[in-house]
Amino acid sequence: MADEVAAAAAGGVENLVIVGSGPAGYTAAIYAARANLRPIVITGFQDGGIPGGQLMTTTHVENFPGFPDGILGPDLMDRLKAQAVRWGTRLVEADADSLDLSQRPFRIQADGETITAHAVILATGASANRLGLPSEERFWNAGISACAICDGATPQFRNEELAVVGGGDSACEEAVYLTKYGSRVHLIVRSGQLRASKAMADRVLANPSITVHWNRRIRDCSGSDWLEAIELVDAEGNSAETIPVRGLFYAIGHTPNTRLVREQLDVDSHGYLITKPGRPETSLEGVFAAGDVADAEWRQGITAAGSGCQAALAAERWLTHHNLAVTVSHDPVDPQEVGEAKPTATSDEANYDPNALWQKGAYALRKLYHDSDKPLLVVYTSPTCGPCHVLKPQLKRVLDELGGRAQGVEIDIEADQEIAQQAGVSGTPTVQLFFQKELKQQFRGVKQRSEFKAAIEQLLGAAVS
Ligand code: NDP
Repeated sequence: MADEVAAAAAGGVENLVIVGSGPAGYTAAIYAARANLRPIVITGFQDGGIPGGQLMTTTHVENFPGFPDGILGPDLMDRLKAQAVRWGTRLVEADADSLDLSQRPFRIQADGETITAHAVILATGASANRLGLPSEERFWNAGISACAICDGATPQFRNEELAVVGGGDSACEEAVYLTKYGSRVHLIVRSGQLRASKAMADRVLANPSITVHWNRRIRDCSGSDWLEAIELVDAEGNSAETIPVRGLFYAIGHTPNTRLVREQLDVDSHGYLITKPGRPETSLEGVFAAGDVADAEWRQGITAAGSGCQAALAAERWLTHHNLAVTVSHDPVDPQEVGEAKPTATSDEANYDPNALWQKGAYALRKLYHDSDKPLLVVYTSPTCGPCHVLKPQLKRVLDELGGRAQGVEIDIEADQEIAQQAGVSGTPTVQLFFQKELKQQFRGVKQRSEFKAAIEQLLGAAVS
């Protein structure tokens, strides 16, 4: 083994690549970066959820130590990311396409590049499960959603009956959250009890706007253009009742994201990575696991962060033991502080700027729509939408790269409900691309930067020719 590893110690090989950007991945990055290992984090993009992981699709995280009043999941992830970057972590904002662990150094393909690395930390987390109903595809984004926190505020759900399926903490949290928008929330539980923590379950049971349907499964759903009803069956599979709902939100657990390594590392019968008991080492030397990808039991932000720390320390020791670590000291020793991120101010008559690349609110939208002769990207967001956090910097980067040839406006659908309704927005993030007062293209969810750029460049090209 030692010879094999030493043989790989050639130039151009990274010390450590971390795959995944949830609390496990970023905590590993913070520790590895502070150990001068200059880690690379492959953040992931669409495969297995969104960058930042499951906390990006949750609202208030009230159990992460250090935040006595709680913190929004996406805000917590923004902080972890900023901390990792501050200490010199390099980010590859793409999915890892393949991991070849059969040779040393290990080879990781991402964003069209091959990265070689002596050590790898897998922190790819777990993805939300789907029910696989016969009509699921038909009503996906037309009533069915895997993220109540992202989509709950959309106009179609306001004052309507909604349903959540699942009996864990996610289902309970989402059911309570949706009572802000829906007239009634039906919680569909397949057994006779909630798996959620006592505090969360009590909140559900005490909420008069939530009806729990025990021992019920969903057979299918129906509607025309938008979801109108779900059909429930009892424990024996006999038809029970049909409930009219305009929204159905899935919260039925997760599957570990081990697709890329399942044939190369030991995994359990559910696909979770098997590590040495209580430790981050996987079945292959130099490959470590952190967070939910190896944890079917605790699955908390703080346990993921803790295991990310362990994985980074173990990787550092392993690299040092094999004389593989090429460290780079920080210059300056203490990097510049990150500070608090400033939200974009909503534009009004006083501060509207016809040439600004990025503005916010209905005033800027109206002005640009009527007066600007440039392509206009309108992104519809909601305050708790984690994917919106991921998308906005990508869109701003596209506009930067286009050097002022296109502009962007952000519309918060909570603040500007009427506009969202008129625009037919059915979830966040939604991006609409306008040119010469015409809607040219609509994008739902997080998409690659290149897609937006190509769409804008096509409009600009067509306008010139
Ligand atoms: P869980 O795995 O805890 O719960 C999944 C739920 O979905 C279970 O009730 C399960 O039923 C049900 N389910 C699974 N498959 C089906 C199906 N095919 N049809 C109907 N129901 C189904 O997942 P969660 O996402 O809720 O939680 C994951 C982890 O994250 C947990 O550790 C949780 O504590 C944590 N969490 C914490 C939060 C917080 O503290 N704020 C918020 C959200 C999550 P059954 O019980 O019968 O197996």
